[in-house]
Amino acid sequence: MLQVAVKMSLDEMALKWALKNAVEHDGKAMVGPVIAKMLGERPELKTNIGSVRRAAEAAVEKVNSMSLEEQRALLARIAPELLEAKRVEKKRLPPLPGAEPGKVITRLPPEPSGYMHIGHAMSGLLNYLYARMYGGVIWLRFEDTDPRKVKPEYYESFRKGYKWLGIEWDHEKNNSDDMELFYRYAEQLIKSGKAYVCTCPAEKIRRLRALGEECEHRSHGADENLHLWNEMLAGGFGEGEAIMRLVGDMKHANTTMRDPALFRIIEHEHPLTGDRYRVWPLYDFAVSIEDYLCGVTHVLRTSEFALRDELQNYIRSLLGISRHPIYIEYSRFEFQGTPVSKRRLRAVLEAGLARSWDDPRFPTIEGIRRRGILPEAIREFTITQTGFSYAKREYDWSLLFAINRRILDPVARRLFFAPNPVKLLIDGAPEISVEAPYHPSNMDLGSRNLRAGGELYISGIDAERMRPGDVYRLKYLMNFKVLEVSGNIIRAEFMGREPIRDVQIIQWVPAGECVEVEVLVPGVLYVNDEINQESLRIVRGLGERAVETVRLDEIVQFERFGFCRRDSASELRFIFAHD
Ligand SMILES: [Zn+2]
Repeated sequence: MLQVAVKMSLDEMALKWALKNAVEHDGKAMVGPVIAKMLGERPELKTNIGSVRRAAEAAVEKVNSMSLEEQRALLARIAPELLEAKRVEKKRLPPLPGAEPGKVITRLPPEPSGYMHIGHAMSGLLNYLYARMYGGVIWLRFEDTDPRKVKPEYYESFRKGYKWLGIEWDHEKNNSDDMELFYRYAEQLIKSGKAYVCTCPAEKIRRLRALGEECEHRSHGADENLHLWNEMLAGGFGEGEAIMRLVGDMKHANTTMRDPALFRIIEHEHPLTGDRYRVWPLYDFAVSIEDYLCGVTHVLRTSEFALRDELQNYIRSLLGISRHPIYIEYSRFEFQGTPVSKRRLRAVLEAGLARSWDDPRFPTIEGIRRRGILPEAIREFTITQTGFSYAKREYDWSLLFAINRRILDPVARRLFFAPNPVKLLIDGAPEISVEAPYHPSNMDLGSRNLRAGGELYISGIDAERMRPGDVYRLKYLMNFKVLEVSGNIIRAEFMGREPIRDVQIIQWVPAGECVEVEVLVPGVLYVNDEINQESLRIVRGLGERAVETVRLDEIVQFERFGFCRRDSASELRFIFAHD
């Protein structure tokens, strides 16, 4: 008895390590590493090396006859911890410069002036994963000091989006909470002669900055500036009539240092503070202070902000703050044909090609979710694809789809769907009822009963290829030989129930028991910088009855068609994710 028990666990152990080895090496396991792993797990087996070798050889032979997909699915079932360990160990972010365990503080700094998109998601994930990697802290901080741009629904879009991605922030605040504090710092700068109120028209300011020349307001004394500043706060100037500027360096090579505006007047109600404030800090000023207040140690952000580091550090140093974050740049995340630019997305809406910002063709988080992309896939994509470089990078959707497919494949139910269906009539076919699993290896997904006789529907694409004399197999059901192809009907004869070698297996739906299904297939929004007029295709077809059991938001695989997410609770409407 004991002998048998040991033997069994040896085989199981060998299978587990052979699967892991195969999954890591394109589906091909090798005996040597499997033996090494087995001995590593149970060193006492060294006295029994013959049995270990035999178990390893048998396991490797078995595993190497399986497809990579089957190997993964089986490993996920018998030893999921190995699949997971591999993912964590191979897909780690590069170390963060200057990071100390327990002392990393990062931030999610969305401006709530639009819906959250994939770029925000990836950037947010980086900041979050680094905070967690070092046991640190992450802030959610809304950069909401432009009341004309921010809207309540956008704050919520970010909160919802981050949550969906699994990002848990430790603290939350709004820059607009700190207006009084910003004013105090502004006063400090004015009193120390490091800021002044400028009433030049915008055009003149632009021209002088380009020329590297100062305006007459720069030489005003602190008292004069303080007086004008209080005028600004009190309403003595209208919008655009006065700004507060930093005393920078008008000849600086980095033009952001040429006396940038720190505060401006905006006469517009703010969604959180109402009409309490009319003088609003600009981005660099607010960020400088807030990063200090939050104790941010690392700022991971796209390279288009690179020129602003110097300015932000300078503002802090003028205020006597010597602690600055470490800045880390990466390229902006853009997907081919799917701009994140609000202007370009709005153009698609205005052209009447999409109705809302959650359209599955859009790079908004809601759009991507509706398309059936999983948060885990975005996370993995971010970790593996992020390169710290300045170059702008355009990603191909297929990379993200490949990761998504790998995650979905072992867990998505597989169902029959016949797009653009064609009728198939099989002479002599018996009535057959089969219990068919929803997945070839994941039995937890259950099964359904399929029943059919001689009257069915098949996919129009399969039907198109059929010629008289061809033999096909209807999956799980029976074989048939094509007799006649006429218009939208194919006549055939029954060729037995047992599988035949080298015969194409096709999906089908029974004529009496099928449901109408509609699938929206999203494409890219722009082709060669022009709006793609055909970015959405609608495929109609018939599904097996079990399609009705697909829940709203569930992602299933319509066999040999693709992964699709149910998008409507009342109708059988799906959105195509990828094949
Ligand atoms: Zn001026």
